[in-house]
Amino acid sequence: MSDLGEMTKKRIRENGLPIIDEARTKAPLYVSMRELPLRFQFGTTKIQKFFDGLKEGKIYMTQCEKCTQKYFPPQADCPNCPDSSMNWVPLDGQGELLTCTMIVVKPSTFAHYDNYIIGVAQMKEGVRVLAWLRIDDPRKITPKMKVRLTTAKREPEGFITYEFVPE
Ligand SMILES: [Zn+2]
Repeated sequence: MSDLGEMTKKRIRENGLPIIDEARTKAPLYVSMRELPLRFQFGTTKIQKFFDGLKEGKIYMTQCEKCTQKYFPPQADCPNCPDSSMNWVPLDGQGELLTCTMIVVKPSTFAHYDNYIIGVAQMKEGVRVLAWLRIDDPRKITPKMKVRLTTAKREPEGFITYEFVPE
């Protein structure tokens, strides 16, 4: 119910049914009271190198050949230069933590994880990366602390992803 607007909630209460008027045509419209989790899929052909890299312990960004703009997560095409090609550039992993926060109240699909820390770091190569920060004691976090971006296995699912660890 969290995403239902106030008007919709009011109308449902007045109507006594989960049915509202469609905005344009005023035709009756049933509104589901349940939220559906959405599992999406997308093709990775043009960015498969990124995932192959993770398996090899490497983390790649892409860089536009024409305008030299760098992208992380990698983008297959440069939004500024439709006719350019992208180069794959490995990140060295050295970064400086810009900000972070501990997630205690989690989205339902993350509820099975212990509290985790999300951080943003400025990488040596110039891109900013958003990732989990794995640290045994959050009290050790300091402003601008050095972090290293590394590959890691996310359990219990067992897939390889990337995260920060203290340098
Ligand atoms: Zn470009």
